[in-house]
Amino acid sequence: MGMLSLVVATTNQGKLREIAAVLHDADVEIVGLDSHPEWIPAVEDGLTFAQNARKKAESIARQSGQLCLADDSGLVVAALGDRPGIYSARFAHAEATDAENNAFLLENMRGLPATQRSAAFVCAMALCSPSGDCHIFEGRLEGQILTEPRGSSGFGYDPLFWLPEQGKSLAEISLAEKNRISHRAQTLTQVMAYLKQAV
Ligand code: IMP
Repeated sequence: MGMLSLVVATTNQGKLREIAAVLHDADVEIVGLDSHPEWIPAVEDGLTFAQNARKKAESIARQSGQLCLADDSGLVVAALGDRPGIYSARFAHAEATDAENNAFLLENMRGLPATQRSAAFVCAMALCSPSGDCHIFEGRLEGQILTEPRGSSGFGYDPLFWLPEQGKSLAEISLAEKNRISHRAQTLTQVMAYLKQAV
């Protein structure tokens, strides 16, 4: 692939860091929203991860006139009826910090035994052209919700997300390791494969 340029429609620095690391290895140049305050992000009022990703990518692709990649992701907990889901960033309240969301998650799951602590991170990505053609990709990472935080790398719910295979939380592994297994990395791998054969 030549030097492909892609607008990545996220303002979440944690997600941008992960996406940039993977795309950098694939020789893709990333344009962030930070450098273009005139591009206005779409309202995330979809009902699914895929709908939200598509809304964001479609809108920025149109405004920028460039190929755009957007992601929507979150945590789904079976025992909570798949909450927080698309509301993961604002689970505790509208302006919640990661620490507040983590505390709220623990509170909601207090007393649940290990057998009822299964969870997954889900990621949907939309790749849209300025003319409105979109492709949707999805990835998923299975794990368990801990009863207290462990580790300090990553972001969001990482310190509460236990990886049985690794015997570590998602906040106890390096960014390189997270980028080999995460829901976002799995989705990006599909995006890269698509770009290789399409562009
Ligand atoms: P979004 O920015 O609307 O996609 O919100 C995603 C939210 O889901 C983040 O703010 C985190 O709370 C959570 N989330 C998504 N991916 C991850 C991850 O890799 N680790 C931890 N939390 C995540």
